[in-house]
Amino acid sequence: MNVIEVKGLKKSYGQVHAVRGVDLSIPAGEIFALLGPNGAGKTTTVEILEGFRSRDAGQISILGFDPHSQGYAARQWRDRIGIVLQSAADAGDLTVIETVRHFSRYYSNPRKVDEVMSAVGLEEKSGALIRNLSGGQRRRLDVALGIIGNPELLFLDEPTTGFDPEARRAFWGLIEKMRGNGTTILLTTHYLDEAEALADRVAVINNGLIIETATPAQLGGRATSQAVVSWRDGSQVKSEATDNPTAVVTDLSVHFDGEIPELTVIRPSLEDIYLKMIGGADE
Ligand code: ATP
Repeated sequence: MNVIEVKGLKKSYGQVHAVRGVDLSIPAGEIFALLGPNGAGKTTTVEILEGFRSRDAGQISILGFDPHSQGYAARQWRDRIGIVLQSAADAGDLTVIETVRHFSRYYSNPRKVDEVMSAVGLEEKSGALIRNLSGGQRRRLDVALGIIGNPELLFLDEPTTGFDPEARRAFWGLIEKMRGNGTTILLTTHYLDEAEALADRVAVINNGLIIETATPAQLGGRATSQAVVSWRDGSQVKSEATDNPTAVVTDLSVHFDGEIPELTVIRPSLEDIYLKMIGGADE
């Protein structure tokens, strides 16, 4: 059974058709990234799956339950889910550690508070008031609150917005660790390198519809798209665009009788492919 199963999800706000028929199947243990431009429908989709927004149509199963009709099971269901919203409500007058401790009491099997504080790199700020945190530190606290309950399923809506590069790398390490524990993760992000580093599969959503779901390496025909092979030949750097980079490299290795000077084989980046898919490359 998939942890997330969505069929024909639709949601409009008045005349705005934000989500127009989304299907998703995400098995246990997968890290799945939802990519799409501003206003594509990512947050609407994710918040419906979290049970925070209503839908107009579609079937949803999250850990075997419909987030909108689970009656008495709601509490047990929430206990198994971690959520990092795009913008969290402010509880400015509490300290960081008070807040993390407080949230840990909502869960039946929480992670250790100290462990979570260090996982998100907030130990030094543990006594600081929330309203005095920087934007990136505040976001780390949001992540801490999302993982404190030791969730089976974690929703992350643009989790690293505002992080400095070091904090982003540390966060990626944390997600890798959670993957190791079998946590299923649904992530939205505008950072294509983040999707590439973390996601087993990505879906590109535009205008409320999923255009394609694939591994980052295969999205938009990336794995079979033309590669550019380049190398040094004497004083010149040469390059060739090809559908068969292996054949070109094999010929070159015969030509050079071994190591090919300054060899590179470059395929389009995930960002190149993504921009082409959403039409952004033409804008
Ligand atoms: P972003 O990358 O900017 O976060 P998104 O992909 O998460 O965008 P959504 O927030 O789901 O996009 O918005 C999808 C569409 O629905 C947008 O056109 C947005 O203006 C509209 N929308 C979202 N929430 C509401 C709301 N509460 N009321 C009215 N319209 C809304």
